Amino acid sequence: MADTAEKVPAAESSSSSAEASIAVEKTEPTTTEKKKWGDVEDDDEEEANAVSELNSLSIKEEEKHESVLEEPEDSNIKAVTSGDTPYTSASRFEDLNLSPELMKGLYVEMKFEKPSKIQAISLPMIMTPPHKHLIAQAHNGSGKTTCFVLGMLSRVDPNLREPQALCICPTRELANQNVEVLQKMGKFTGIAVEVAVPERTRGVSNMRRDAVSAQVVIGTPGTIKKWIAFKKLGLNHLKILVFDEADQMLATDGFRDDSLRIMKDIERVNPTFQVLLFSATFNETVKDFVARTVKDPNQLFVKREDLALDSVKQYKVVCPNEQTKIEVIKDQIMELGDIGQTIIFVRTKVSANKLHKALAEMGYDVTSVHGSMENEDRDKIVKEFKDCLTQVLIATDVIARGFDQQRVNLVVNYNMPTKHDSGGEPDYEVYLHRVGRAGRFGRKGAVFNLLLDDRRDIEVMEKIEKYFGAHVKEIKSWNSEEEYKIALKEAGLLDE
Ligand code: AMP
Repeated sequence: MADTAEKVPAAESSSSSAEASIAVEKTEPTTTEKKKWGDVEDDDEEEANAVSELNSLSIKEEEKHESVLEEPEDSNIKAVTSGDTPYTSASRFEDLNLSPELMKGLYVEMKFEKPSKIQAISLPMIMTPPHKHLIAQAHNGSGKTTCFVLGMLSRVDPNLREPQALCICPTRELANQNVEVLQKMGKFTGIAVEVAVPERTRGVSNMRRDAVSAQVVIGTPGTIKKWIAFKKLGLNHLKILVFDEADQMLATDGFRDDSLRIMKDIERVNPTFQVLLFSATFNETVKDFVARTVKDPNQLFVKREDLALDSVKQYKVVCPNEQTKIEVIKDQIMELGDIGQTIIFVRTKVSANKLHKALAEMGYDVTSVHGSMENEDRDKIVKEFKDCLTQVLIATDVIARGFDQQRVNLVVNYNMPTKHDSGGEPDYEVYLHRVGRAGRFGRKGAVFNLLLDDRRDIEVMEKIEKYFGAHVKEIKSWNSEEEYKIALKEAGLLDE
């Protein structure tokens, strides 16, 4: 398969809120003079331009107020800083010493009002010289994309037409989504972004040979590695490297090797570059990668109990067989509830096809997406869903992570997530990510886990509950309309 560089158009807006209280802990006492991080100018950033443009960029007050952060008091973020740089948490975007163009992007385009807690604490760490590495435990829905997108945008020099920031993602969907966010947030900066993902159609090679001049490149590891090898992506000016969803990306040997190779290549020409690594968990793979590659990072952690989204109500239903699962989806949940958009997660493409057929036959307008589809088709289906042209998406875990669609308020686990080749062990991370697709950033939502009446499914659910210390309510009788109504009301998907 060959690769292509494609420019991705700006995305639809998304907004809202979340996060929580942050305890900052320093590993070493700070002895240096207390200097507000925002007072320190970025080494390479040219601030000189734009005085004349300031007026045209000024932010109208009335344009600022659409995206209010409702911050549920859910999670505790623990920050562990390395070295003696003092950081002051940024309660307002004004504290970040950003360019007027970026401020306008945040307020006018993104419609953000103030940083979420993870942004308030991580952005100063990312932006303050000496630009130490940052390892952050963060989930989608916590506002982490802004942490690294704003981090990249604020660190690149718009006047230098060379790649300066690189973001590596595990899937093309996530890469495309991050590109869209960056284009939107950076709309007024003149900063260009290029996406490096496997080309859309198989068998056709149209990899452009000319070197990338965009300041930011976002893509998947294999393609980025190839671009570097073919000198399409120059590394001389690279100063920031982001790993998004690192635990997923590093889980496979191939991805891990590609990522290490990329880091080594950058290091060779540019030893002082900054690494930001965002990961849902710090499993052995991530720890190992960090230990081998990232020296003295600042770190942010979220407590495990705080990971599960409280705003999303979770239910389980034991169903006698596969057919009844379909009936539950159709007759109980979708028929009764006031559903925005729905994602139904299945284990394999075979289940996806089966369920698709069954729901389509019953007159539902569904689409499905799985890994063995042509990339072009996959992109099209995801885009249609994001544009709200379709309401129900059946998906394998290709989109479990990173998919930001605020109108999704219902997730159905048609099959429970289990690890491959594990004899049916639950995949806790995937579960969490699936749940995270509903109720984005503190919004209301419901997750229904449809379990087959056998020990295996029931055990998987029990283990998941235990792992997250969460009680998942049971719908006792799979066909009791009353019970579903109560559940849907509780989840805010049915009026009183
Ligand atoms: P993320 O965790 O980065 O995928 O963000 C989840 C959602 O929250 C996205 O729709 C963002 O646009 C939105 N969001 C992120 N940061 C903020 C903020 N500071 N204010 C309002 N909404 C935000």
